[in-house]
Amino acid sequence: MKRRELLKATVLGSSAALAVMNTKNSNAHEANDQADVLIVGAGNAGIPAAIEASDMGAKVILIDKNAFVGGMLIVSGGHISGANAKIQMRKNIKDSYEKHYQDAMRIGKYKADSELLALATEHAASMVDWLEKIGVEFTDESPILVDDHDHYSVPRTYVGVNLARSLLGPLKKELDKRIKRGGLDLKLETKALHLLQDDNKEIIGVKVRNKNGDALDIFAKTVILASGGYGANKDMQKKFNPKVVSAKWVGLPHATGDGINMAQKVGASLSYMDHLISYPGTVFDLKGVPTEISTRLQFPPKHFTQSIWINKKGRRFVNEHTTPDNREVAFLDQEELFFYVLFDARMRTERDSLDIRNWSSKEMDQAINEGNVIIKTDTIDQLAGKLKINPTRLSETILKYNTAIDSNQNDEFGRKEKRLKILQPPYYAFGVGGSVLNTHGGISINSSLEVIDENSRVIPGLYAIGETIGNGHLMGEGVVSGMSVGPAITFGRMVAKTAFRYAQNKHVSKKNQKPY
Ligand SMILES: Cc1cc2nc3c(=O)[nH]c(=O)nc-3n(C[C@H](O)[C@H](O)[C@H](O)COP(=O)(O)OP(=O)(O)OC[C@H]3O[C@@H](n4cnc5c(N)ncnc54)[C@H](O)[C@@H]3O)c2cc1C
Repeated sequence: MKRRELLKATVLGSSAALAVMNTKNSNAHEANDQADVLIVGAGNAGIPAAIEASDMGAKVILIDKNAFVGGMLIVSGGHISGANAKIQMRKNIKDSYEKHYQDAMRIGKYKADSELLALATEHAASMVDWLEKIGVEFTDESPILVDDHDHYSVPRTYVGVNLARSLLGPLKKELDKRIKRGGLDLKLETKALHLLQDDNKEIIGVKVRNKNGDALDIFAKTVILASGGYGANKDMQKKFNPKVVSAKWVGLPHATGDGINMAQKVGASLSYMDHLISYPGTVFDLKGVPTEISTRLQFPPKHFTQSIWINKKGRRFVNEHTTPDNREVAFLDQEELFFYVLFDARMRTERDSLDIRNWSSKEMDQAINEGNVIIKTDTIDQLAGKLKINPTRLSETILKYNTAIDSNQNDEFGRKEKRLKILQPPYYAFGVGGSVLNTHGGISINSSLEVIDENSRVIPGLYAIGETIGNGHLMGEGVVSGMSVGPAITFGRMVAKTAFRYAQNKHVSKKNQKPY
């Protein structure tokens, strides 16, 4: 760095600014000018990591490709879970982190990473308490059992009064305090392109494109990837999860798996990539386009109480009232990840039958009248014709269903409750496809949250947290309530300590540094 530039950076008062250089000058800086910690992604995981690293006294650079901070917290439900948090204890609910661990293991079909799950559950309560301390307001009902997912054994999910935005507000305030205090440099509209490594394969920074379109090398003693999942990246889904490519991504567009791809290029192994859960899901219109009402249907007992679900072959495929997990598994087997919700005139008039989240009865009536989302016909044959399914098979399916009700028997899928015979015209149906809320695959890490390769060897100086490690590590092959947002914060706070300690002890030889 030229003397004049050095002086400018010092005058600006930003220690971290010293670590940012144009590629041309990338070999010309001093090791002790570097940021200790460079965090990629100012979202759910990255913000707490930056706060904690700053409190440790680290020189921190936090970058985000968006023009704003918050990542998925802007749209997320923000449910978090943890045993023996103060808010749970105030309600005298008996719980333990061991129970939390066991519940999560069970729901994830014993496929979660045991060490990481233990780490997340053991430290969950202090994460929730910390959030309360910084001003997060939870609903009076918290903790609850969440019906969208298979139940924990006790209520231990906490919900912000304004969902995840209740978490984001106080987190952002805390972040701003650290930025004001100095030593924490936030760079928005700065996209990480790839990681920089020295001759010894140590990670020494990130190449970025800044808001002016310039490619820069940002050097740092450690890099934490907190860049989220790949729900918005259809190419990655085609490669890893072809079954769910048609599913609609309901998160924000930044989730393009950048961190996963960057880490893989430096030798990181990936885990759980073949697993991606799609919820049923998204309401489609007659042209096969997802509607505005891209709501989630995964908890039918609360809506479509009486309806049945019919696949493209004209058959039912699941007990519509089974657990969310059973429904999701059955759904994943359906052709084109699609089915129809079918009901008759009687069900339509019974208000409880047509009550779906984010889709009021009035709006549904309007959709029936407009005829662009909900199909209405006078006969089952006509309905089959409109749905392009075999009419004989559809009639057989309905007859079988009605007969089981007549004889008061469980039907072939074990459904016995909340059923009415389908016999009163007109008949109605609408199409449902998949929704994706988060991704299960991601970067493999060890229990120090260091990124590892195929042989479990650490890639020195590189860490990963949040959805970029893939939710499968903590959820296995299920969806475990509050186990994405919460662990992102827990691991964010933890990794800051680990990375800073590593940075303090790291001797970086100037001559070893070269752009990746
Ligand atoms: C609608 C919805 C509801 C949900 N509800 C819940 C819930 O109730 N409970 C729960 O546990 N989970 C829930 N989830 C999942 C959960 O919100 C996410 O898994 C979690 O918030 C992800 O946090 P993160 O920090 O890993 O990523 P994010 O919060 O997505 O942050 C990643 C950040 O990295 C930035 N970034 C990405 N690539 C780059 C790059 N190349 N360079 C620089 N910056 C980059 C992004 O711009 C973003 O700001 C929900 C998800 C959705 C979509």
